[in-house]
Amino acid sequence: MDLLQKILQGDLRATARLMTMIENGAPESIPILKSLYRHTGKAYVIGVTGPPGSGKSTLTDGITEELRLRGKTVGIVAVDPTSPFTGGAILADRIRMQRHSLDSGVFIRSMATRGHLGGLAGATNAVVDVLDAAGKDYILIETVGVGQDEIEVVRSAHTSIVVAIPGMGDDIQAIKAGVMEIGDLFVVNKADRDGADKTAMEIEMTLHLGKATDGWRPRVLKTVAVKGEGVAQLTQAILEHQAFLHQTDGRRQKGKDRIYWVFYELLRERLTTRLIEKVASNGTLDAFIERIAARETDPYSAVDEVLMKAGL
Ligand code: GDP
Repeated sequence: MDLLQKILQGDLRATARLMTMIENGAPESIPILKSLYRHTGKAYVIGVTGPPGSGKSTLTDGITEELRLRGKTVGIVAVDPTSPFTGGAILADRIRMQRHSLDSGVFIRSMATRGHLGGLAGATNAVVDVLDAAGKDYILIETVGVGQDEIEVVRSAHTSIVVAIPGMGDDIQAIKAGVMEIGDLFVVNKADRDGADKTAMEIEMTLHLGKATDGWRPRVLKTVAVKGEGVAQLTQAILEHQAFLHQTDGRRQKGKDRIYWVFYELLRERLTTRLIEKVASNGTLDAFIERIAARETDPYSAVDEVLMKAGL
């Protein structure tokens, strides 16, 4: 509880320590998270997603700088696709830290997508809560838009930004399938390259086909993140979307969407873990696998049997 007090006072080391406990799936983190929760709900959450190398980190840094200019504090959760074993996430942390290292108003945490005992989504949600309780005004979640998990993480943000790059061609189709409907803002980064206008237009056209959700018409912006071009406008657009949500009660709704998602994920993960613990004890799971392999039963009936045994 001492740790919680320190976090609420904005202590960086205490904040980092709880995050490490969360990442390691340490059971001691749960009581702290329980007490911490009532101090959350103040931060504004922004999700940034897009393919690897599209410039998400550079954009996130740029948005952070703009928010800092406005006197806001920022937390960044970078969900790094790199394996925890290569230390890629740590390397990315170091590079970023150099830029904001002297700024106590920015807290950056990289998380590897693999190796979380409690699942990626659960760990990310918990880390966002910690940053929220620690008093960060804005929290940026940056994630590669490939897996469903990553997309879901961004969906739960107040403002979701989808990053594309010129000449994605067929990839626009891929975006359409997965993330088109989650974007409040679309960014064509690397607009210093050929084809940015065409890509922006393709996105616009796709958006026009879709229906405007809750009265907000998603916008398409062009940026050159490495030069900071368009980043002020992007930040402005984020603030306008925030104001829009505020006016229309959309923020409360998005907050509820987020709670639904957090609660559902937690329930699913805990339920699965407990059920498997129960079933896997004294080799029951192995016995099922043997029987399925021998075609004495099938996976569907085996699942029915397991659930029935557990009284579900
Ligand atoms: P992420 O993997 O999506 O986070 O992408 P990064 O932010 O790490 O950027 C990937 C590479 O693209 C880096 O080498 C950046 O310097 C470069 N980059 C980012 N933005 C731009 C841009 O607007 N134009 C150009 N030409 N390169 C960029």
